[in-house]
Amino acid sequence: QLLDMPRILSVIVDEARALAQDQGHHIELECDPAVTLYGDESELRSALSNLVFNAVKYTPKNGRILVSWREDAGGARFTVEDNGIGIPAHHLPRLTERFYRVDSGRSSRTGGTGLGLAIVKHVLGRYQANLEVRSEPGKGSTFSCRFPPAVTARRVVSLTGSRSG
Ligand code: ATP
Ligand code: MG
Repeated sequence: QLLDMPRILSVIVDEARALAQDQGHHIELECDPAVTLYGDESELRSALSNLVFNAVKYTPKNGRILVSWREDAGGARFTVEDNGIGIPAHHLPRLTERFYRVDSGRSSRTGGTGLGLAIVKHVLGRYQANLEVRSEPGKGSTFSCRFPPAVTARRVVSLTGSRSG
């Protein structure tokens, strides 16, 4: 199934804005409409929204969250960047383990089971996509996944409106 990424991503970002209503976050979406993906909409939506909702959850008030979708070396890249609490380096390798959460003290405020990133990893595996993270405590985190050319497609974007014939 060829997915309508601009629509899927704008729904996710709208949901994140609703979720973050009282937190004063600035949540932005940058999306290249010419890049799209073959796959299952609901499974992909749940994986990508997990990354966006984490950014909302682990960013204190008035944060800045940037979600982007763009072409990358013939494939595509999805990135969520936040300026939230960040993650100490020694936790990074274990983040996608089931039930793993960075010290319960700080995450107890924000409920969660620690399954989100395990699910993300599982779904991305079905697209031969990898998950990368860069993070600095107190500064923020960037989660990024790269989809290979095999699962991506380029779409023609009309510049002049629809034409018949
Ligand atoms: P769940 O997603 O199951 O509701 P969760 O958010 O705790 O629970 P994961 O999404 O798997 O679980 O994330 C694992 C842990 O990684 C989180 O508990 C949190 O400590 C840390 N984490 C994930 N994303 C971020 C982020 N953007 N900024 C800071 N910490 C993060
Ligand atoms: Mg989560």
